[in-house]
Amino acid sequence: MQICIIDDNLVNENIGKDIFMNTLEHLIQDDYNIIMSDIIREGHPTLREVATAIVEPISEEYITLGKQMLQFLENSQDPDIAQELDLRGGVGIAAPQLDIPKRIMAVLIPSEDEESDEPKLREVMFNPKVLSHSVQQTCLKDGEGCLSVDREVPGYVVRADRITITYTNMNNEKIKMKLRGYEAIVVQHEIDHLNGVMFFDHINEENPFAINPDIKVID
Ligand SMILES: [Zn+2]
Repeated sequence: MQICIIDDNLVNENIGKDIFMNTLEHLIQDDYNIIMSDIIREGHPTLREVATAIVEPISEEYITLGKQMLQFLENSQDPDIAQELDLRGGVGIAAPQLDIPKRIMAVLIPSEDEESDEPKLREVMFNPKVLSHSVQQTCLKDGEGCLSVDREVPGYVVRADRITITYTNMNNEKIKMKLRGYEAIVVQHEIDHLNGVMFFDHINEENPFAINPDIKVID
């Protein structure tokens, strides 16, 4: 009897592991490009889970996944590739959106200067943490969108205007970074995904565009 119980546990654990590992293996294949069908959409339970920390130093598999996520963002911002692969443009993606409940996210924020190829922020972050945030709050004039949400959800998404974060990068270095404005908003949106939070959770349901006059609204 006891053996059966132990076996059941082993079987359950293995099933859980297999499903997750299959997804990871699929996404990190050589020359594979992440596409929209790899991204889970609102209503999927993984989007509401708190993702687990990655064991450090970060293993090769997760570093490859991080690179693939960054490549997806790059592809999604390239008009030709985006059209060919049918991608929606994105500036950030978190591993839970790929049904991998791990604390990994990638951000790619292009330069505002069209002449410059140097992005404002291009990074894969493992185990990111917000160390501190400003009292000053901010939100985007046009609200936010999400690769996992196939509809417009109008309303101000109020977030901290400045944050200080730490994370581990793809070279297994601990980084501390200060961000403000749009970059800070994108990073907070992605960290929310690691905590099972969606952008629309922050929108005032009664009056989506009602905010305190102290809050900075950015274009
Ligand atoms: Zn999102």
